[in-house]
Amino acid sequence: MNPCMTTPPDDSLEPEQSVGGSVAARTSALGRALTALTKTRVSLRINHNTHTLATVSPPKRAGEPWKFNLHAMFLDADEIVLQALVAWGKNDDAAGRAVRKYIDAHMHAVRPKKSRMAGVVLSPRGNTHDLHALMQSVNEEFFGGGRSVYITWGQDGRRATPARRSRTRQIRFGSYDEHAKVIRIHPALDRPEVPEFFIRFVIYHEMLHDLLDLETNEATGRRRIHPPEFREMERLFPQYHEAIAFEHRFLKEFM
Ligand SMILES: [Zn+2]
Repeated sequence: MNPCMTTPPDDSLEPEQSVGGSVAARTSALGRALTALTKTRVSLRINHNTHTLATVSPPKRAGEPWKFNLHAMFLDADEIVLQALVAWGKNDDAAGRAVRKYIDAHMHAVRPKKSRMAGVVLSPRGNTHDLHALMQSVNEEFFGGGRSVYITWGQDGRRATPARRSRTRQIRFGSYDEHAKVIRIHPALDRPEVPEFFIRFVIYHEMLHDLLDLETNEATGRRRIHPPEFREMERLFPQYHEAIAFEHRFLKEFM
């Protein structure tokens, strides 16, 4: 599933425009193309996951390879897209947008694992905030890219109306459906007044639910949704206090 290969530097090899062929052949063609473009050693990993669709890390020191972790959709990318990948790796924002465009046009190749996802329509791109991109960055920063969950704007069907009760915060800005592995973020947050860090915090919180997998207490049969270690990890978020303060302000002003 995850062929991983390293190609030696070889400037004489031309990038290939291969469509079709075995995954192994296309992977090695892609490796050669990237080697030609970066003029250095390349470590290429092709993935079939749904979230980390493209990661490009240029070498930090001389002698290190360029590292590419790419979704299989890139096996069919033409040279313009590959050039954009390399330029994006060098922090070219316009190239990053070209890569994003390619990904958007090929999202049909990203197949979520069926059954459990049945009936769940994901719409991660809002008017202001792109949840998919935000989740990807949270996943990289806090979970080493290791969480594999879905995300969408929307409300938890079980709590469709944001209710307000006197004592506890009842408006849930995020929810996590552990069966479908879907994080839902309340659409009220999709506006420019809401800073990215706050949405990242809500995503981080929901991803912790995926990580900690809510154990049921054997003795009581009760599940603690936010056990102490959950709260402890939640506080590791760098802007934890700002996020809590923002939440209070936001609830007062907008909800
Ligand atoms: Zn929670």
